[in-house]
Amino acid sequence: MPNISLAPRVVNLKPSVTIAFMNRAKAMKAQGLDVLSFAAGEPDFDTPRAIKDSAIEALLAGQTKYMPTLGDPETRRVIAEKFTKENGIPGLTADHITIGSGGKHSLYVLCHVLFDFPKAGQPQQECVLPVPAWVSYAPLVELAGGKIVEVPTTVKTGFKASAEQIKAAITPRTRMVILNSPSNPCGTMYSPDELKAIAKVCAEAAATIAPDLVILSDELYEKIVYGGIAHFSIGSDPSVAERTITLNGLSKAYGMTGWRVGYTAMPGEFGKKFTNAMSTLQGQMSTNITSFVYPAIRTALTKCSADVEMMRKAFAARADVINARLSKVPKVVNAKATGAFYAFPDVSAYFGTTSKGGKPINSALDMCNALLDEALVAFVPGEDFGGCGKNHVRISFACSEDQINKGMDRFEKFLAELK
Ligand code: GLU
Repeated sequence: MPNISLAPRVVNLKPSVTIAFMNRAKAMKAQGLDVLSFAAGEPDFDTPRAIKDSAIEALLAGQTKYMPTLGDPETRRVIAEKFTKENGIPGLTADHITIGSGGKHSLYVLCHVLFDFPKAGQPQQECVLPVPAWVSYAPLVELAGGKIVEVPTTVKTGFKASAEQIKAAITPRTRMVILNSPSNPCGTMYSPDELKAIAKVCAEAAATIAPDLVILSDELYEKIVYGGIAHFSIGSDPSVAERTITLNGLSKAYGMTGWRVGYTAMPGEFGKKFTNAMSTLQGQMSTNITSFVYPAIRTALTKCSADVEMMRKAFAARADVINARLSKVPKVVNAKATGAFYAFPDVSAYFGTTSKGGKPINSALDMCNALLDEALVAFVPGEDFGGCGKNHVRISFACSEDQINKGMDRFEKFLAELK
């Protein structure tokens, strides 16, 4: 092999553990193994027919050429209307909306628009992140030059950071505060009052010590709520509206993970500046998303509420099953899922044991490896979600109740056989 090097920032980049376990489970299934996968954060529902039809019609009508980088004005207007009507975000027009290739791509672009590497002798810009948090926030912030400031949470408080904790983590170097409710991987939600209290401390900090502070509210799971807590968009709070980016997309609510559609909204004059910067970077990176997807976005957002409700109800029933099953597993501590489709139980009471197949179980990663190899059940180990995540495993229950019950049977048997 020739002696050629790769860029260190990519060599040092952690691969996504959610994607890694999802791919492993898929590869084992392809070999004919009866793997039950709870790895991917991916609904098992197909995309509603009306959404597919809109894309097919546009494709057949020849909508196959370049489009404006951030999307056509009509689709951006429909998204602005969605955020205005459903989320109460004030002052939005199509000019405040960006459309990218999935939530993760939008996140990548916005991190590079907001963070930078410090000049010599200057401190790094900071990103306040309640943890455990989705595995891609920290790597993407760091790749753009930011430094993660973890705010630890625990299973006992439903993995929620308090306003006081957020306040204590903010410094003059704070560039971003990331919030994600409903949460991936925790499956829990902040109440409207808790988010208003966080908005208040962010507004106060911005007015005093942290003028560059921006809130990133990742609301990809907003439609999947069933625990009696109403979804609330912190960007609707007037005190922080013009410093909040709301991130959303079609993947989770509409069964559209493979389509790759993410979008952002940020109102106000700075919001327009931010949106233009997103356009400049995306214009050098990927240009517009697939052209014939735009009509499908409009159909999803304006005509598919019945499909969304059908899926929400199914997730609610599945949450009941997994909440009930996990509450009965000896020595496993679980926070009841109230949103999204994840359970994130603490399994650390089983560390220090050995599996039936002879594998030492000293970490969540050990447990997930042995569980997959020996019991053919794919969970995601919690280490890369940060904080107390190292004691937890993530179970994505975006699958049938039958699969949940079978998977839990195998998981309980696996735990019972640990020595
Ligand atoms: N967001 C989903 C998950 O957490 C999809 C995979 C990924 O992007 O991490 O499983």
